[in-house]
Amino acid sequence: MKSQPDFDIAICGGGMVGATLAGLLLHEPALSDLRIALIEAHMPTQPPTSNVELRVSAISRASERILTRAGAWPHIPAAQRSAYQQMRVWDANSQSDSKAALEFSASALGEPNLGYIIANNWLQWAALDATRDERITCLTSQLDQIELSEDCASITLQDGRRISARLVIGADGAASRSRTCVGIQSRVRPYQQTALVAQVRTQRSHQSTAWQRFMPNGPIAFLPLNNGDCSIVWTTTPDHAAQLSAMDAVSLASAITVASDQVLGEVTLVSKTATFPLQWAQAEEYCRHRFVLVGDAAHSIHPLAGQGVNLGLMDAAALVQLMSEARQSGVSIETLSELSVLRRYERWRKTENTLALGLVDSLNRLFSNERISTSWLRRTGLAAVQKLPFIKRQLMMRALGLAGEVPTMVSRYDKTDGIK
Ligand SMILES: Cc1cc2nc3c(=O)[nH]c(=O)nc-3n(C[C@H](O)[C@H](O)[C@H](O)COP(=O)(O)OP(=O)(O)OC[C@H]3O[C@@H](n4cnc5c(N)ncnc54)[C@H](O)[C@@H]3O)c2cc1C
Repeated sequence: MKSQPDFDIAICGGGMVGATLAGLLLHEPALSDLRIALIEAHMPTQPPTSNVELRVSAISRASERILTRAGAWPHIPAAQRSAYQQMRVWDANSQSDSKAALEFSASALGEPNLGYIIANNWLQWAALDATRDERITCLTSQLDQIELSEDCASITLQDGRRISARLVIGADGAASRSRTCVGIQSRVRPYQQTALVAQVRTQRSHQSTAWQRFMPNGPIAFLPLNNGDCSIVWTTTPDHAAQLSAMDAVSLASAITVASDQVLGEVTLVSKTATFPLQWAQAEEYCRHRFVLVGDAAHSIHPLAGQGVNLGLMDAAALVQLMSEARQSGVSIETLSELSVLRRYERWRKTENTLALGLVDSLNRLFSNERISTSWLRRTGLAAVQKLPFIKRQLMMRALGLAGEVPTMVSRYDKTDGIK
């Protein structure tokens, strides 16, 4: 008789996506008997304490619903969820208040806001907090090896522990060890761009608006925070990012003021800075027998539209939905990790992610470009979209994660779905 694996599912990576996925599995009635291992190299042991966080994410309406369903949303303190009501996008060859600027507003869409700016460490902490349950075993260690066999997956951790599972979910980020272990190739195209992030104080109020000015080397975005400050993401060439990082606080603040065209007046730096080289990446396969990828382990997208973690949370929601549907149609725990279920997930999410990656890639090419013809095209393009309410609405619904093929926990969301 075959012995039972230690776990039904082992999630490698307890970042924002992996931890939320664990919460979704836990709260899905048809999957509530699964035994889950969550492997995370750097498991936080207490909630974030710092007032200044460099890594933040713009969280869409779809992600708010997924995080609510996973039980994580109530674990994010209200003060840490900075709602924004408007978004303003303009080209460096025009002004933020000109006809060539694009403006989106929550009120025009009948939405309470366009989303929230939330620190990544709060998102991760809240998602982990929602997984405290005897059905989830948290293992603090680094994944070392995975061996897939017909019956189960054998996992070796760097601290020497070995576990087995029916299914391994790789949620261990862009440099995914789990993806490498099972031999899935990823197509990677580095953007010759680096994102510099910092928190700044501005002379004028941010007006709960996300501001983004496109320059030839890349955009600078000001994301509004509840405490009145802004988190900035300045995308530029690697050399320029290195020069900016080497500046003292006063010189860097004045460079940011100039790059923003003083849209919020003078800027003061209130944090250190960090830089991230940017890349486009997509795994060639999202699954193998007993193995599946979610989040940045499957795809990396340019941050200009703030979509990376939002796409990852959609992956998690889609996978849980398909597993739940399979279970309800009579598929046993033993066969849940078979390729027929996983391939449906791959077809769904690869199509949606390819579309999003392509769209954002095209926007980056259109905007990060000094050619006069392209400059003319983007100014007239922005002005045209501004005048076309239907197109504007479609763009915004996609940014909110409410357009395209979305999981039912997003499309049929009912406030009573929220696990309080
Ligand atoms: C400058 C910048 C701005 C961004 N802004 C936004 C935004 O506004 N909105 C948005 O949606 N996205 C944004 N993104 C993208 C977003 O940060 C990523 O998409 C997101 O972090 C992916 O989450 P993840 O959980 O898949 O991976 P990660 O966040 O990389 O988490 C992976 C986890 O796995 C763990 N891990 C890794 N290797 C191992 C191992 N071998 N063993 C065990 N554990 C392991 C790590 O410790 C980590 O906790 C931005 C990205 C950048 C660079």
